Amino acid sequence: MGLVPTMGFLHDGHRSLMHRSVAERDVTLVTLFVNPLQFGVDEDLSAYPRDFERDAAMCEDAGVDVMLHPSVDEMYPTGLPILTTVTVDEVSATMEGASRPTHFAGVATVVAKLFNIAGTCHAYFGEKDWQQLAVIRRLAADLSFPVEVVGCPIVREPDGLAMSSRNSYLTPEERAAAPVMHWALVAGAAAIAAGERDPAKVRALMADLINAEPLAELDYAEVVDAASLRRIDQLAGEVRLLAATRLGRARLIDNEGATIPAPT
Ligand code: AMP
Repeated sequence: MGLVPTMGFLHDGHRSLMHRSVAERDVTLVTLFVNPLQFGVDEDLSAYPRDFERDAAMCEDAGVDVMLHPSVDEMYPTGLPILTTVTVDEVSATMEGASRPTHFAGVATVVAKLFNIAGTCHAYFGEKDWQQLAVIRRLAADLSFPVEVVGCPIVREPDGLAMSSRNSYLTPEERAAAPVMHWALVAGAAAIAAGERDPAKVRALMADLINAEPLAELDYAEVVDAASLRRIDQLAGEVRLLAATRLGRARLIDNEGATIPAPT
């Protein structure tokens, strides 16, 4: 079985996960659930976009076998808050975890439940949420879930903006400004490819580019070890550049990879 967990309001990024699962697995299960546990108190839970009819049509079109679209009561029958939760230390602590302190515990808890519901499976997640992918890989390994976690590449709009359900919050002016984060990450990766090894300089370069856009309010621009998500003094091996920016009502995240060849 292939499992594709989503919060619905599907776009081509989700579609790429569904297509991959449908191509690789006998049965594909897509879950559509806006999980209250992963939203902070002042976040966009009630405003989060929803369109089940459209999502159902997209799933059918993609060849999905089963859709699971539970209510909050069905997912949390004992009521909220639940007493048993899952936290993944260290990889959850920085970046998204620093800005959204309860977010990854909410994600890890609902994904643990979905893993239990699905049973043995391959679970498809997008690299768009790179830190989430790292959290889920540790969750699956640490708690011995019979699940193979599969990371899938980021799907972008033609101008570079990573597809996201939250892009629907953007005004036309904000939408025009939104690709700045992608191009700042690309510039950071290009600086590394050109020989820059000082992470502080790469962070500053990306932050300056994003801050030059008046509509964008930078949360963080980071470069870390791609697997551990730890900051490193000297860039080496596989690194990941990650950023989060607020644009009006939307808080958007994106990331880019870079590989530093071992010295010969
Ligand atoms: P969400 O509905 O935002 O919780 O996302 C559900 C899944 O789709 C997660 O594994 C995301 O990483 C993935 N996803 C969201 N946007 C994209 C994208 N632009 N490209 C690839 N995967 C994505």
